[in-house]
Amino acid sequence: MVRHSLDSVNEFARQGYNLRITCSGCGRVIEANAVEMMVELNRRRAPLSIASLEDRAKCRECGHRGATVTACEVNI
Ligand SMILES: [Zn+2]
Repeated sequence: MVRHSLDSVNEFARQGYNLRITCSGCGRVIEANAVEMMVELNRRRAPLSIASLEDRAKCRECGHRGATVTACEVNI
């Protein structure tokens, strides 16, 4: 698990990681492209920090709000 100095979505994008978002309600895991997430958050004028993403992320499966975000390598 990689989490050094990755505290915002643009850091993930810059270092070429995907976001792995784990629902703290049901444990569902999704992977999101950091660049696409950055564009989406900018469009919503939402903060890019991982902490706020963890607070705001809402699970499509169980509706729980709150998640854990870690980095995962992009497989090319
Ligand atoms: Zn969930």
